Amino acid sequence: MTDGFGRRIDYLRISVTDRCDLRCRYCMAEKMTFLPRNAILTLDEIGIIADRFIARGVRKIRLSGGEPLVRRDFGDLARRIGRHIGHGLDELTLTTNGTHLAEHAEALYESGVRRINVSLDTIDPKTFSFITRGGDITKVFAGLSAARDAGLAVKINMVALKDLNDDSFLPMLEWCNAHGHDLTLIETMPLGEIDEDRVDRFLPLSYALQQIRAQYDVSPIPYRTGGPARYFSIEGMQVRLGLITPLTENFCAGCNRMRLTCQGRIYMCLGHEDHIDLKAAFREGGIEAIDGLLDRALASKPLAHDFRIGTDSSASTARHMSVTGG
Ligand code: SAM
Ligand code: SF4
Repeated sequence: MTDGFGRRIDYLRISVTDRCDLRCRYCMAEKMTFLPRNAILTLDEIGIIADRFIARGVRKIRLSGGEPLVRRDFGDLARRIGRHIGHGLDELTLTTNGTHLAEHAEALYESGVRRINVSLDTIDPKTFSFITRGGDITKVFAGLSAARDAGLAVKINMVALKDLNDDSFLPMLEWCNAHGHDLTLIETMPLGEIDEDRVDRFLPLSYALQQIRAQYDVSPIPYRTGGPARYFSIEGMQVRLGLITPLTENFCAGCNRMRLTCQGRIYMCLGHEDHIDLKAAFREGGIEAIDGLLDRALASKPLAHDFRIGTDSSASTARHMSVTGG
């Protein structure tokens, strides 16, 4: 599949639920209103749509949310999609907060998953509880051990947050290195209304890199995982450091992805409101309806997002990351 700008689109992210057991301050409001259950795709519908997308050329799928592991029968979906690995699909991955990973790690491996992203913005239990509004970091640590025992490679995702974890980049890097995880730092994006002013939390990743460079030699490396991160090696360490900089260094020219939300919409860009409602068409017209809408979606993919932060504090899109799937 190719979009109107000649970019090859072969990466699909699926948000399997907008619900979550945590309430990270930069992601959600404390009192979130979640979608009613009949507004979201059933797991069977997600499976059928994923089959069709793979037949059209999707080579990599990431399951996300909300918290994907809180959706009942999540394992059935992973198994179903995992059957395509080696038959059209190159990779099935997952982004999770890790709180329920201990129960799922082995089954994920058996479904063909080999690499997962676990979001962890700090390794300090109190700060973790503050950022997530009550989360228990010991559950994440248990999940990480289970992932290692099951044979899953783990990349830690850490969102850089001013005054919350801006003194933690070096400790996190060293901790990841000691535990055999890669680390990706992410700039916070203006997605959905939260209870804080995003400008107060925004931190350009140049700041984090400067802190790390004060201690270690950092060199760019050509490693890529199919996403927007640029990678670096750190002198004397195994850990690969990734930087995702949607605000300060645009990477849209290499974008290869589209997103299916839990309510069955296709978004061709995280930073735009334009979408195509696949659910309604699919429920009326069945599988045949998917192809035509997919072609329309490809033609409508914008050249770049238009995130801004700092000029005003409002969200660029009304959708939270948890609906679209991070
Ligand atoms: N609940 C899972 C988790 O936290 O990994 C998966 C969904 S979460 C929305 C996916 C990723 O998006 C996480 O790494 C999270 O830190 C990140 N995220 C959420 N809101 C964000 C925002 N406004 N800007 C940047 N990253 C965000
Ligand atoms: Fe939940 Fe993930 Fe959002 Fe945190 S970042 S509130 S874990 S969906």
